[in-house]
Amino acid sequence: MKDDFYTYQAQTSPHPLSLEIARASGCYLYDTGGRAHLDFVAGVSACSLGHCHPAVVKAIQEQAAAYMHVMVYGEYILSPAVALTKKLASLLPEGLETTYLVNSGTEAMEGALKLARRATGRSGLVAAHGAYHGNTMGSLSLMDFEERKAPFRPLLPDVRFIHFNKEEDLEKINHHTAAVVLETIQGGAGFVLPEAGYLKKVRERCTAVGALLILDEVQPGFGRTGTLFAFEHYDCVPDILVMGKGMASGLPVGAFTASKSLMQRLSERPELGHITTFGGNPVIAAAALATLEEISESGVMDGIAAREARFRERLKHPLIKEIRGRGLMLAPILESRELTDAVILKCAERGLVLFWLLFEPKALRISPPLTITLEEIDRGCDILLGVLDTF
Ligand code: PMP
Repeated sequence: MKDDFYTYQAQTSPHPLSLEIARASGCYLYDTGGRAHLDFVAGVSACSLGHCHPAVVKAIQEQAAAYMHVMVYGEYILSPAVALTKKLASLLPEGLETTYLVNSGTEAMEGALKLARRATGRSGLVAAHGAYHGNTMGSLSLMDFEERKAPFRPLLPDVRFIHFNKEEDLEKINHHTAAVVLETIQGGAGFVLPEAGYLKKVRERCTAVGALLILDEVQPGFGRTGTLFAFEHYDCVPDILVMGKGMASGLPVGAFTASKSLMQRLSERPELGHITTFGGNPVIAAAALATLEEISESGVMDGIAAREARFRERLKHPLIKEIRGRGLMLAPILESRELTDAVILKCAERGLVLFWLLFEPKALRISPPLTITLEEIDRGCDILLGVLDTF
């Protein structure tokens, strides 16, 4: 199987982790040799309720047996998509009541960018250094990492970069700006939190110059920081909210949400301003609805603070310089890239799944299922601390 993987399946890098999976359940992955691996990564924040949560599996099975794909997005009335978007509206602040369902985080970002340009008639975009918003041409244009962008140019023109948390940079947002795009909590940069009052200032500046604020909540979305979305902590409501990853507990999904009147712009002059075949797919929408119901109604978000505290309490070690992040998106920072690489690989050998963050080579990614127990946290921390002791 390993040879076939390298031969036939397109690779993203020369050094994939290559764990061969047989099944997954809760916070554990099981390889084809029958070995259990405790999962502190959750499919890179996608498997919010752990692997194969019974409520999600049931919703998928029932919907798959009723009907799957029947028409392109937006033509037929399909109850899973309607119920999901209605439920989201009931949980979001006023002004975020209409949701366009798509296939991935990056497609949601593309839709949001198109909506912003269509609605404002402006072309300028402002994004942050260190940001990651996806890998299609528009999202890639918002990434300030020349080495990874250069081979794919020309990308979108009119993108200016600001430093996240630097208020002086907000002057760059002006009357040419269609949208300011920020991650509420920067993911790839190393789980960098917005400083007190920063996002509010960004909001005020956008409102003053007539630019739209797009918040990318692909990583914190659906409960990871203890609230449904992270912006709820920071007194700042976006014009367009972008989400993905953890929405459907592991099925491919994305969405962007705005007010009804704003979103309307994508369906008139021109009509069909954004089109997708599979967006709002009934099986995926059913999985997302089950995930949203479970996360918003079962009390799982109430347990996030205690889980974060447990990680912080346990992960005290001379080789851990600090722990960035919030809730269950945490990044212990080590002293070098080499150490981080070695720790991740050694933990993998000992049955603990950790991962990297894109632009912060000294960070360990900890983003487990929201359902992880305190005992599982302890077990994983014991492995990590044991590995750190060997260096
Ligand atoms: N925005 C952020 C903040 C992300 O972390 C990601 C994925 N890592 C994306 C957008 C893109 O999502 P997808 O991979 O589903 O296209």
